[in-house]
Amino acid sequence: MSSSYAGQQIAFLTQHGKEQVIAPILEPALGCVIKHVTGFDTDQLGTFTRDIRRPGSQLDAARRKARIGMELSGLSLGMASEGSFDLDPFAGMFPWNIELLVLIDDRLGIEVVGMAQGPGHSSHVQASDWPAVESFAAGVGFPDHHLVLRPQDQDDTRVHKGVSDWTGLKASFEQCLAQSGNRQVFVETDLRAFANPSRMQHIEQAAQDLLKRLQSCCPECASPGYWVSERQPGLPCSVCGRPTSGYLTEVWKCGRCLHTSVQTRTDCAFAEPKHCASCNP
Ligand SMILES: [Zn+2]
Ligand SMILES: [Zn+2]
Repeated sequence: MSSSYAGQQIAFLTQHGKEQVIAPILEPALGCVIKHVTGFDTDQLGTFTRDIRRPGSQLDAARRKARIGMELSGLSLGMASEGSFDLDPFAGMFPWNIELLVLIDDRLGIEVVGMAQGPGHSSHVQASDWPAVESFAAGVGFPDHHLVLRPQDQDDTRVHKGVSDWTGLKASFEQCLAQSGNRQVFVETDLRAFANPSRMQHIEQAAQDLLKRLQSCCPECASPGYWVSERQPGLPCSVCGRPTSGYLTEVWKCGRCLHTSVQTRTDCAFAEPKHCASCNP
């Protein structure tokens, strides 16, 4: 176990309740204190409701938040999380959520990133009658997952956020309908962490992934975050023995002293012929 963080405070800038799932995982295992930093509106860095677009990549956004938290708190350790929604990588049909949790350690000069992904609750409907809204809401896990409504279309700025019960949903729908020039209401899932429990679960898994990485220490300098940086193909085919695209070796790398070690995989020795370019061209 890494002792690098025992007794250390880690700044965590968030305003959506993420500290409630992250602190119970990291604090007991690392002996650190997660210092919840407020005083900066993280929505300024981008929102899911398109009021403010997020510049740069998901990881850039997480880094930016971590840095702001470090500046506000004066700490040399900072952490932040950033989520994104896309379509699933298999069929490209279903909502998919990726959560990143970055830890920046200026004492050691390292950055360690935990990640989790899985099916997400991200969906929308343009509706003109209550039954359509009712069936959409039931299908996206409302009221556990909250909703955002607005009149007209997805770009209308008269946004009703934080809709979390059926009475409130009906009232918001009727208000939006009355404000709408085209008799339509745009309804979508609220993707903020506290309003989206399946997202919160992925944030928790990202914290577990970050913890595993922080507990893996470099054999040369003992710095945390010693982890696989690359996988190299060449796993032999079980029928013809030719190299396949399946990975054969893993490159482990330290972010601090850059020590690397190449390790041959031990969990399997051969690839199935269906993955072989010769046996299954
Ligand atoms: Zn083969
Ligand atoms: Zn090292």
